[in-house]
Amino acid sequence: MNAATRVAISADRAHTWHPFTPMREWCAPDHEPLVLLSGEGAVLRDSEGREYLDGNSSIWTNLHGHRHPKIDAAIRAQLDRVAHTSFLGFTNPPAAQLAAELVALWPAGTLTRVFFSDDGSTAIEVALKMALGHWRHRGKPERRQFVSFRGAYHGDTLGAASLGQIPTFRTASREGYEVVELADLSELEKVEPERVAAVVIEPLIQGAAGMQLWPSGMLRELRAWTEQHGVLLILDEVMTGFGRTGTMFACEQEGVVPDLIALAKGLTGGYLPLAATLTRERIFESFLSDPDEDRTLYYGHSYTANQLGCAAALASLEIFREEKVLASLQPKIARFSELLAELADLPHVFSIRQCGFIAGIEVRRTDGTPFPPADRVGAQVCRAARACGLLTRPIRDTIVLSPPNCVTDAQLTSACSAISAAVAEICHG
Ligand SMILES: *Cc1c(COP(=O)(O)O)cnc(C)c1O
Repeated sequence: MNAATRVAISADRAHTWHPFTPMREWCAPDHEPLVLLSGEGAVLRDSEGREYLDGNSSIWTNLHGHRHPKIDAAIRAQLDRVAHTSFLGFTNPPAAQLAAELVALWPAGTLTRVFFSDDGSTAIEVALKMALGHWRHRGKPERRQFVSFRGAYHGDTLGAASLGQIPTFRTASREGYEVVELADLSELEKVEPERVAAVVIEPLIQGAAGMQLWPSGMLRELRAWTEQHGVLLILDEVMTGFGRTGTMFACEQEGVVPDLIALAKGLTGGYLPLAATLTRERIFESFLSDPDEDRTLYYGHSYTANQLGCAAALASLEIFREEKVLASLQPKIARFSELLAELADLPHVFSIRQCGFIAGIEVRRTDGTPFPPADRVGAQVCRAARACGLLTRPIRDTIVLSPPNCVTDAQLTSACSAISAAVAEICHG
């Protein structure tokens, strides 16, 4: 380990506070954090020169690989003009163009307005505020409930966190609205539809819940229910957006267009924090006011529509077109399924849940009972996989494998071998 790495580690240990991290263990003298220095394509390199496959796309953000020449160049070119200017009172070309391009990804006249923010959580906050404001301005203030689903994860700012059922993420901030949590559609009958502002869901697959798949057709059925009762549908495609499930957006697979959608993680190709909430013209129009009333959406952040982020996002969308990313993903997804099927034969692999390029591999004891949570078997498996050149994180005992779209066949194969070896090493031991 060289001096610079030692300095970085000791500064980290003394002064940083990592997300979702038990810091006593992190700061313990025997914990040596992995220091990532560089990357290229689907590969990351650490301070010791070791290479790893970026098995969870740097927590579900990276799409086209690290240091993609097109995104690098777009950010550099933007940097030569300006890095950031305020969107409060001004506009800028990359943001305006990005809004137009995002809208063009949807059927004409459906999602027509784009509100920029910084991350998935804030994109959800915006959607919630829009839904509540919409009903208030339309004279239906009694519509102040959000229906969400057990296990959902919509981010960890207070409003977004109030929607999920994951107790660790749960907070008590429910002023001004209520949350009704359902296990599945069979519980919709518990709901009084005329009190509901919107239903919020991660379509096709719940991410942080452990890559849990919804039954096929569920989203379509939910959309029919919302239309029947005039309830808004908010889709959280923060994880599933931008090709991760095999189509540009997950909801396309069920022929659904929502009333609001939150996009973040992959929006900039995994380069910069930028998010977008897209909505319909009729919701936008609810906020247009006559001179004697003020219906303005008073919401926004300092870095809204950051020019560097928007330039990166435009380059990412251009890569989708130029490299025909969605078409090229199809054979890769098929190959991914084959490799996962081989893992399914391992005695400790209890279940494999795949949605396009997102997979969760759940390990349990051979009799199907879960390992004791305190053993942190999932974390141990990921640690063992790291020694085989694969970097990823578990969700409890579900190993996430969701590499960048640019991953090669050879890289995918060795990622699955790494998991196989790691599961054998940890679970048999
Ligand atoms: C990551 C994630 C969020 C939160 O996004 P942040 O950028 O971490 O705030 C919300 N919803 C889903 C489905 C996510 O995967």
